[in-house]
Amino acid sequence: MAGKDVETMKIASKVWKNGELINWDDARIHVMSHVVNYGSSVFEGIRCYRTSQGSAVFRLPEHMQRLLNSAKIYRMETPYTREQLCDATVELIADSELDECYIRPLIVRGLDEDKPAFGVNPFPNPVDAYIATWQWGKYLGDEALENGIDVCVSSWTRITSNSLPTMAKAGANYMNSQLIKMEALLGGFSEGIALDDRGMVSEGSGENLFLVNGGRLITPPLGASILPGITRDSVIQIARELGIEVVETTIQRGALYLADELFFSGTAAEITPIRSVDRITVGPGKRGPITERIQEEFFKVIRAERPAPFGADWLTYINAEEKKTASA
Ligand code: PMP
Repeated sequence: MAGKDVETMKIASKVWKNGELINWDDARIHVMSHVVNYGSSVFEGIRCYRTSQGSAVFRLPEHMQRLLNSAKIYRMETPYTREQLCDATVELIADSELDECYIRPLIVRGLDEDKPAFGVNPFPNPVDAYIATWQWGKYLGDEALENGIDVCVSSWTRITSNSLPTMAKAGANYMNSQLIKMEALLGGFSEGIALDDRGMVSEGSGENLFLVNGGRLITPPLGASILPGITRDSVIQIARELGIEVVETTIQRGALYLADELFFSGTAAEITPIRSVDRITVGPGKRGPITERIQEEFFKVIRAERPAPFGADWLTYINAEEKKTASA
């Protein structure tokens, strides 16, 4: 069924909630839900792309596994398995008639209106699972993928993993991301890069970060308070297959200014080159050759124009039958 059209954004008319498709307009929660008061949500961001063999979701099982991992850390018990959440996503997209979309699964602590509980203790509150989807263009702008963006180093420190675990993609983590993003935007930058509590480079407000130096790809390790990004992993695997050496190591702020190339990776941002940091030009001030090469391979993989590296299967087709017929 066709969904809502809000300005230029198409939104699916249904939302998957606890095993059922409900109307978008009914996907509401009470203002006194635990999640509204205390930030108790975990979520995902996934993209579905149009390919010559039909629409396909990029690394759907890996995203749903990360969702369940995030829920496990926060002791949010959900009856849904990874496979059920993947199937629900396919069902929702098939119903929506969107052929390219962004998918937002969410697990939240809600409110039991018959037995309300308003304290910090999350245990009395029900755990609800949702999946919504809409058409979403280029997160950092259409120009960004080609020309690169201007970023700053944030004055905000990235959350430390012993206060809010950065392996979890939790709603509350994004209060920190919002501070980083707002400061960057108000300073005239597209995005901010946060340093961790030791002053080492961590990540953007919603992206992982890569440097290119002397032909090698360098990225902060998981210990630098980063989200284990699925695009980050995809970049690492694509680079390794191309024979580009990848090093996960701590990076000091100064190295950002001296890098040959710099780029962000993320589901929303895809692979976005960075042309300056704190108004210091990075390399030649435009997308560099290694960034371009990796971007090219990444876009080929997501559009099914080449297989994923090392024989992996990264695409879940919405209409598997259509895919089989096309490749027959
Ligand atoms: N770091 C943060 C803080 C993010 O929000 C995201 C986006 N999910 C990423 C990194 C990139 O992760 P992924 O490639 O899995 O989208």
